[in-house]
Amino acid sequence: MSQSRGTVIGVNGNMVSVEVEGEVALNEVGYIDTESGEERRRLKSEVIRVRGSRAEVQVFEMTTGIGVGDHVEFTGELLAVELGPGLLAKVYDGLQNPLPELAAQCGFFLDRGVYIEALDRETKWRFTPKASIGDRVERADTLGVVPEGIFEHRIMVPFNRYGTYTVKEIASEGEYVVTDRIAVLEDSSGEQIPVTMMFEWPVKRPIECYAERLKPADPMVTKVRIIDTFFPVALGGTYCIPGPFGAGKTVLQQITSRNADVDIVIVAACGERAGEVVETLREFPELIDPRTGRTLMERTVIICNTSSMPVAAREASVYTAVTIAEYYRQMGLNVLLLADSTSRWAQAMREMSGRLEEIPGEEAFPAYLESVIAAFYERAGVVNLRDGGRGSVTIGGTVSPAGGNFEEPVTQATLKVVGAFHGLSRERSDARRYPSIHPLESWSKYAGSIDRGMVEYAREVLHHGNEVGQMMKVVGEEGTSLDDYVWYLKSEFTDSVYLQQNAFDPVDAAVSVERQKYTFEILFDLLTTRLNFGQKEEARAWFAQLRQRFLDLNGTEWQSDAFKELVADIKKAVDSMRAGVEDNAVSIVGEMR
Ligand code: ADP
Ligand code: MG
Repeated sequence: MSQSRGTVIGVNGNMVSVEVEGEVALNEVGYIDTESGEERRRLKSEVIRVRGSRAEVQVFEMTTGIGVGDHVEFTGELLAVELGPGLLAKVYDGLQNPLPELAAQCGFFLDRGVYIEALDRETKWRFTPKASIGDRVERADTLGVVPEGIFEHRIMVPFNRYGTYTVKEIASEGEYVVTDRIAVLEDSSGEQIPVTMMFEWPVKRPIECYAERLKPADPMVTKVRIIDTFFPVALGGTYCIPGPFGAGKTVLQQITSRNADVDIVIVAACGERAGEVVETLREFPELIDPRTGRTLMERTVIICNTSSMPVAAREASVYTAVTIAEYYRQMGLNVLLLADSTSRWAQAMREMSGRLEEIPGEEAFPAYLESVIAAFYERAGVVNLRDGGRGSVTIGGTVSPAGGNFEEPVTQATLKVVGAFHGLSRERSDARRYPSIHPLESWSKYAGSIDRGMVEYAREVLHHGNEVGQMMKVVGEEGTSLDDYVWYLKSEFTDSVYLQQNAFDPVDAAVSVERQKYTFEILFDLLTTRLNFGQKEEARAWFAQLRQRFLDLNGTEWQSDAFKELVADIKKAVDSMRAGVEDNAVSIVGEMR
């Protein structure tokens, strides 16, 4: 692309109209030179529409000071991120400026027009060559490795080098900075191409340097019971967590980022409240990685939007995040991307679309909302790499619909494309039933680690118990049969000992799949057992006692002596009440529907 120039002819919020000399492309980056008072600034922007010689650009900064006649320099480049060692443990804004560095340079409030290199240029990395002179290589092939945190970071042939090359030079083992030349490649025409440890990639273009895409099949274990047992997520899959304000979306994402069985977590945080991002920045580095006992940041990247950044930067942040996720997938790693909240991103789209005066769709969101959301989630996936390795990007996005109404466009567009739906319920969070994922409304298309038939049976019990509970509110306990009452107790029991999980208990906070299988079988045995109660009072007291033992079990170390004793206790209690096999839960529910 060539580099064009332009002149500002209009300013409308964050959208600026530019008269262009020459040509510009959609998504091309341009810098606007402004002067306000004594200060001169270069503000970064991205082309979002081109019509003839007129381009509309969205500015990633507050636009105060931009005036008609200001000069614009287009770069000929698309909005891109830097890829290379040094991304892990970083906190970036939506344009990949390292936030702590920005804060240090500009004081607490970030200055406009200050951009800092994303990858540190001075850090030395211990490079070990893996390729040899004469090797034939393609984009994404490994030239060498450097240690980064607990991983081997692959130094790969830059992804924008299409075609086949011959390795002409390769650096020997040693310490290098990201801009040092570590190899020279020769293309078919004999051109020599120097390669460094870093390169750039446009954020809106998926990285697809793999042999094949697979259907997500293996579970991504979150160690949250209600997810892994009832609504599992697959490695390389997608899921959506809609929930009203305060229902627990952010807390659930934090729990997941700490405990999920993945290598790397990328958090794209577009805060609901102004202070939320600051909270994330403060709390995250304090989280301990259960795998290493050290800070979780070592295998995390946070993309954050500060409150001073306008909508355009919010939009960029989800793309920056997913591009970094795809980069690490190329190294054969499992990456989890958590986007909180995608509603903010959708609102950014709505705002820009409004300024462009496009024909609005539902609730004034642009008509292309669905396709943009779909394209984002499609960047998830599990892939076989060309070297025989396998990597994945799993995407989980929260949605915060106004008033918790899941019928709104962003939730609906997301539900069309994701593989699992974890709907958070205001009713459950108000009752402090955490995590507040709704057990009847949520769903998953993925296979988990636990027998589907058993899970479906438990869901029927929950469903029936809920119906009995609703009915009891009308007719009272006396108007309910003993049989129905016991179904109700069974469903409440399932809820309190299995669906709910105490994020603050060191044992209960994270439950392995092995343990989930084990305790779910004990629970399933209880659910399928016809219990020998004479009256409701007796049933209620018995369940209350068993519940306490089960909760104790949940807080007891897996397979310890105390654990085994509690299991024996619970089994004995169930056996002593056993009157036969309960095989009619499903049929009862069937009749009631
Ligand atoms: P949202 O992001 O949906 O607006 P948050 O995740 O910020 O909601 O949760 C709001 C509050 O609810 C938290 O500050 C916390 O007090 C409580 N909460 C949420 N999830 C849990 C949980 N799993 N265990 C205990 N408390 C929780
Ligand atoms: Mg939140």
